Amino acid sequence: MADKEDPRQIIAREALTPYEKTVPSFSETTNLLSLVNRFPALFVEGTNDALGTYKPYENQVAISPTAFYENRAQGTILHELTHALNENMSRSYFNMDPKYRRDFKSATDEELNFTDAYNKLRPAQSALIDNKDAKEDPYRYDSDELAAYAVARHGFPKIRDPYPVRDHLNATLATEAAILRDLYLRALKSRK
Ligand SMILES: [Zn+2]
Repeated sequence: MADKEDPRQIIAREALTPYEKTVPSFSETTNLLSLVNRFPALFVEGTNDALGTYKPYENQVAISPTAFYENRAQGTILHELTHALNENMSRSYFNMDPKYRRDFKSATDEELNFTDAYNKLRPAQSALIDNKDAKEDPYRYDSDELAAYAVARHGFPKIRDPYPVRDHLNATLATEAAILRDLYLRALKSRK
């Protein structure tokens, strides 16, 4: 028998469940994290000023109670899970790209499609990201934050957006992220 689940985790899981089935970017993200066995432990707990945090080494996502009071928990969970997914895509990239892989197997066509797209579309490479913006607001225009905000915004367009950015940026970055999720899934399946 497993130990009794931490109540902070039960709340977080309940916040996730309805959206896993109905918001495609949400279900794709949770499916991919499960497929690579890296679904983060999800907690509701204080996170200082932020609504959520992702800790890559612990593989944990914390969602602040404030995110629930402000009705922004779902967007915050998707934002943090997008950070987790991007971290894992980066690891997979180095296991799949022929320049870096160490298993001496040749890459599948699907792996080559993913690594090629990853070189062009991963957040830090997106042609849309302008370093001038990053000088003005280093947090919001950080490439990983731009991608995480874009995916969450696209998944939950009705949630209030305290950090609006110029037109097209969220929509285009969310589309680039969707392309990468699709190619990543195909690449992971091709290795089986
Ligand atoms: Zn973030």
